[in-house]
Amino acid sequence: MTGRVLIVDPVVTTRIVLKVKLAAAYFTVFHAATIAEAIEEIEKAPPDVVLCEFELEEGGAIHLQNRLARQAIPVIALLPEGADHKRAEALKAGLADVITRPYEDRTLLARIRNLLRARTAQEELQLRSDTSAALGFAEAAQEFAAAAKIGLVAQNPKEGLLWKEALAEVLPHTAEVLAPTDLVGEGSADKRYDALIVSISGRSAQQRLDFVSSLRARPETRHTAILAVASSESANIAITALDTGAGDVMTEGFEPHEAGERLRRLLRRRAQEMALRRSVEVGLEAAMTDPLTGLYNRRYAIPYLEKMSLASRRSGRCFAVMLLDLDFFKHINDNYGHAVGDDVLVEFAKRLLSNLRSVDLVSRIGGEEFLVAMPDTTLDQAASAAARLCQLTRATPFSKTKVAGGVSASVSVGLALGGKHGDDSEPPRRVSIEALLEEADNALYAAKEGGRDMVRVSQSAA
Ligand code: GH3
Ligand code: MG
Ligand code: MG
Repeated sequence: MTGRVLIVDPVVTTRIVLKVKLAAAYFTVFHAATIAEAIEEIEKAPPDVVLCEFELEEGGAIHLQNRLARQAIPVIALLPEGADHKRAEALKAGLADVITRPYEDRTLLARIRNLLRARTAQEELQLRSDTSAALGFAEAAQEFAAAAKIGLVAQNPKEGLLWKEALAEVLPHTAEVLAPTDLVGEGSADKRYDALIVSISGRSAQQRLDFVSSLRARPETRHTAILAVASSESANIAITALDTGAGDVMTEGFEPHEAGERLRRLLRRRAQEMALRRSVEVGLEAAMTDPLTGLYNRRYAIPYLEKMSLASRRSGRCFAVMLLDLDFFKHINDNYGHAVGDDVLVEFAKRLLSNLRSVDLVSRIGGEEFLVAMPDTTLDQAASAAARLCQLTRATPFSKTKVAGGVSASVSVGLALGGKHGDDSEPPRRVSIEALLEEADNALYAAKEGGRDMVRVSQSAA
């Protein structure tokens, strides 16, 4: 995951050391010595994340976060050594995250990645929800659920009870002490929690880490907010939970105010995501999906692409558009009948969905023509995804039909790239969606001309 990070620190050596570390992790790094300089930098080019000293002469991280609230740019505050007690307060003041010195590099990187991931998912859902609103499907305002159900998986029941008592002081929610087997064992399916606090400590730390990722994989807990708690000795293991399924991690042990604050924002984020997801699911169903395959239709896809293009212009990251057209589909209908043709289309749609990322939009825009829009994607990534789709169409006959042995098919793909590309010095490439689709269509035509069953990339993208 790449992203633009702005470092705000008055000490030049701190800035340089941080810059080197972040650049090594493939982040694009800018820096500023003061808040005023930071604001200047941000106006020039908005970063994805800001790292700021907690206290600076002109106000520090909280001050900067407040200035950036409208742009929704997250600020991570770097707290001085021994300032652990200020963490809850800093979070309460609206900072996206806090890290206390001294910290491990991987802690910093994991926390940055976590914020970027949350943002990408939110933006993506927002985009889809905006698209449905633009088409006249108002989304019902969803209030953050006041009474959430929280499960506490501490090291042992005794610690769980202590957590429960401490949390009762800071949160209005009901909490229940659980063992891991209550969530992954038999009969766990009917237990639903909005959030879980899971201890990743001691000798079982690694095992607990696996437990967290298995929670992510289970349908019952896939969307449950998870806050992992570690003692500072297990911090190194626990922080990786951010990359494997936890929404947030406390690495300095359980402190009720900090836990309460982190839980509150996880629940808020979850409520927003659920509301957005619902508005996508319900609102779009009828008018924007294709009844045969269940995919989005052209009516939905085109305005969605407009939004994706806008988002890409803002972020400076590219997006890809693929047009896929099944080869000689008429022959399939002629040879096996229209009903078999329909079955192939349905199975093809499923293959597309299960072989692309969940943030990629898959739509059916014509009889045997499909459009895939991939946000935040480079040309190489898109080209290899397209090649994979070709391969998996060709390699396995479509078997969910009445035809013995299945029906063989292949697909041709035209690919075009939207948004900025090349190095940072190049100006953003602005093309209309219409022009971009024409590029992809020309590339598709070239793939057909070239003999079908292949990917062609638009000249202007290459
Ligand atoms: P090419 O490789 O050039 O794309 O050849 P093709 O036969 O796929 O292209 P053509 O555009 O000539 O034909 C598309 C066919 O797809 C014709 C039409 O009957 C069929 N088709 C379109 N919509 C549906 C559908 O919903 N179900 C079925 N079974 N067939 C469809
Ligand atoms: Mg066609
Ligand atoms: Mg065709």
